[in-house]
Amino acid sequence: MQNLVALCKRRGFVFPASEIYGGLNGFWDFGPLGTLLKNNLRDAWWRDMVLCPPLGPDGKPVSIVGLDTAIIQHPQTWVASGHVGGFADLMVDCRETKARYRADHVICTEVLYEKSGAQKKLGLMCALSGDDSQDSLEKKAKKMIAKAGGGDLIPFNLSAAVPLTSLPVDARMHAIGPDAVDAGTLTEPRPFNLMFHTYLGAIQTEENKAYLRPETAQGIFLNFKNVLDTSRVRPPFGIAQVGKSFRNEVTPRNFIFRTREFEQMEMEFFCPPNESQMWFEYWVNARMQWWQNMGLSRDNLLRRDHEKDELSHYSTATSDIEFKYPFTDPHFGELEGVAHRGDYDLTQHQTHSKQKLEYFDAETNTRYLPHVIEPAAGLTRGVLAVLCDAYRVDESRASPEWLKIKPALAPIKLGIFPLVAKDGMPEMAEKIYNNLRGQYTAQFDAKQSIGKRYARMDEAGTPFCLTIDGDSLTANDVTVRHRDTAQQERVGVDRLREYLSPFFSGD
Ligand code: ATP
Repeated sequence: MQNLVALCKRRGFVFPASEIYGGLNGFWDFGPLGTLLKNNLRDAWWRDMVLCPPLGPDGKPVSIVGLDTAIIQHPQTWVASGHVGGFADLMVDCRETKARYRADHVICTEVLYEKSGAQKKLGLMCALSGDDSQDSLEKKAKKMIAKAGGGDLIPFNLSAAVPLTSLPVDARMHAIGPDAVDAGTLTEPRPFNLMFHTYLGAIQTEENKAYLRPETAQGIFLNFKNVLDTSRVRPPFGIAQVGKSFRNEVTPRNFIFRTREFEQMEMEFFCPPNESQMWFEYWVNARMQWWQNMGLSRDNLLRRDHEKDELSHYSTATSDIEFKYPFTDPHFGELEGVAHRGDYDLTQHQTHSKQKLEYFDAETNTRYLPHVIEPAAGLTRGVLAVLCDAYRVDESRASPEWLKIKPALAPIKLGIFPLVAKDGMPEMAEKIYNNLRGQYTAQFDAKQSIGKRYARMDEAGTPFCLTIDGDSLTANDVTVRHRDTAQQERVGVDRLREYLSPFFSGD
């Protein structure tokens, strides 16, 4: 993972936010390549959800419209949605190091050592789950054993560790915190609301308090009636939105996996209650397929159905689409959640706003609140999944690290190079570049050795490099180098568009 983070920084995918001031925990900036990649993934989602949605069970395209709502909505929104009362994670503080952790992310394991043939207890040691922490915990344990007079650490496996929250209170009181040395410095878990708040206007009073949205979904529910009244949609139909969300995560970590400001791609699918289970299954399968269409390998994806005790109080079913991130491997981490929200949100907003939000079905002459199926994906987490899946190491290549990004998502589609900067090659290359750059994000580069230029493009995940050499001027052709195989073939300039086009089709 560290190597991928370094590549992202070096090549301008992702930078730590406010880096010149030492960075800001939980915030990241997307660089030139990262912005292109993120926009491509966002556009693919928008195209496949709103512009060209998939076919429904009846063989006709499902109906979905788009929306772009304000980040700050009326504060009552978040009271009605349950976020003011309940959008909290349990956190624990460490009195020794002053660090704060999400309680469900802290895992514990009993660490033992052997001295003079006797087995001794070092204590219950904690680590943050998902982190590459086995090594550091072992190092810490060895230091503690040395301090306690020496001995041999008995090997332990963090993947068999148990969550801190599942331990009885007296056991928790003796745990050694993830960054602590002394036992018993972790506080009892207590709830911490994740919403960022601000004040509207000049006076900072409770009445002027407002919230930065922690999810894009609620803006959709608030506009359900507006969309019904102004568009020609009727249930079953969806409303989709992409945008920023904010959560004051207790422990932002794992690069852009868990951040305090991130982007979501959410769709609320409103359907008659008796069709909801069918649509739930439909969307779980459709979303699983979509991530594969984005190039993620099937082996790295997992559907995880929530257990009954894990479900939100309003949900009758939720399935997560999980991805095997390097820091969760061999386990998986959430990429997208598909939730059956019933009529919870519309009921809540109807009660709190005192506005009727029911749909009137003229065919059956009935009024009802539709049920909602919500596929909610993280755009930033999606970019991370694409990068992790694409990351390859091959020491035999010009660039040992390279990115096998699906061509349609690649930030730069074409590198266009004159082999050497003389004999008319730059002029011909520039002409081809000017011809293609309107259709493909292309980069013209005449500097450095050709090997170095290929290597730079491999690291950026550019699927094709077109090189203009001495023969190109007479034969009016270029060599096309394929990123994945490093194979080259000659293609006539007149055929280039026709040749490239199939590689960039959306699916
Ligand atoms: P988690 O359990 O990881 O905290 P969640 O279940 O609270 O996530 P949802 O509320 O279902 O997440 O949000 C939908 C999607 O938004 C998630 O599947 C994830 O991709 C993304 N997401 C949620 N929180 C964050 C975050 N802090 N940083 C980046 N992406 C996030």
